[in-house]
Amino acid sequence: MSNCIFCNIVQHQGSAQIIFEDQQAMVISDRNPQAPVHLLVIPKKHIDRIQNTTEGDEALLGHLIILARQEAEKAGLNDKGYRLVFNNGRQGGQAVFHIHLHLLGGRAMHWPPG
Ligand code: 5GP
Ligand code: ZN
Repeated sequence: MSNCIFCNIVQHQGSAQIIFEDQQAMVISDRNPQAPVHLLVIPKKHIDRIQNTTEGDEALLGHLIILARQEAEKAGLNDKGYRLVFNNGRQGGQAVFHIHLHLLGGRAMHWPPG
């Protein structure tokens, strides 16, 4: 989708610090970090929100978690822990309607979230 900010980024047409990339996904630094480590794992396939994923997306969704796990390990977060988040829809706090998995770490997270 040409008017999608994350489609542009995964096609190297947006501004983002790229941390990792493979055929299915890209990991970037969040431009407005909410923790010392704040990365976004973005599938290259445009899916607007988690509620619109299908069984056919199962492997892709699992891949996003594996990439987040690898990046957390690279960032040295395994001992202290970290948080993985999908925001879905407006009340879920989703602002960019191309699914992405947040990896947050480097500080204590609060629960319940705001
Ligand atoms: P959401 O609220 O949709 O779950 O999260 C969207 C995230 O994307 C926000 O944390 C926001 O800072 C980040 N973001 C939005 N636009 C850009 C961008 O152009 N580049 C980067 N690196 N991050 C972005
Ligand atoms: Zn998109």
